[in-house]
Amino acid sequence: MTDEFNGRCAMFKSESYRFQWRDLGDIDGGRPNLGSLVNVAVYRLMQYSLRDVLNRHLSVEKATELLREAGRLAGAEFCRNVLNCTLPFNEFVADLQEKLLALKIGIMRVEKSDLDKMEFTLTVAEDLDCSGLPPTDETVCEYDEGFIAGVLGTYTGREFDAREVDCWASSERICRFKVTTKGEG
Ligand SMILES: [Zn+2]
Repeated sequence: MTDEFNGRCAMFKSESYRFQWRDLGDIDGGRPNLGSLVNVAVYRLMQYSLRDVLNRHLSVEKATELLREAGRLAGAEFCRNVLNCTLPFNEFVADLQEKLLALKIGIMRVEKSDLDKMEFTLTVAEDLDCSGLPPTDETVCEYDEGFIAGVLGTYTGREFDAREVDCWASSERICRFKVTTKGEG
């Protein structure tokens, strides 16, 4: 595949492609009649079908890792482009909560926080990725794990790990994430 098509550089189909916020395009201009909103089922259709294919072609472990890595990339770009990174920590978290709510991603709350250790327990109710799934004994929100780590990592300049310990899918009816700085906790 050539990098040139109709005189324009290839984007998604270039080996050197790296996602940036602006690649989301001019959604309002591109969808003047349909607008920027879509049904949650369509979002899940995309994510779950992708997981199916990644699981089968790679492995469950690799698929999980890749979904988490993609979430981290999304969280970093979300932080840079949607959130106000100049705010002090508590106001930054309030901004994050507000934006997650406004975009209908989920209802986030800080359950515990230790600012000295930079360790947090966050909950997300009505999570876009999993709320309403049939109960199993597994947590499924690896994309969210990466997203949270990406947001906090970009804001602080440190590396974070987020692990989901409870999930709607694990019968808890809420997603709960333990967040630590990487390599600690
Ligand atoms: Zn979950």
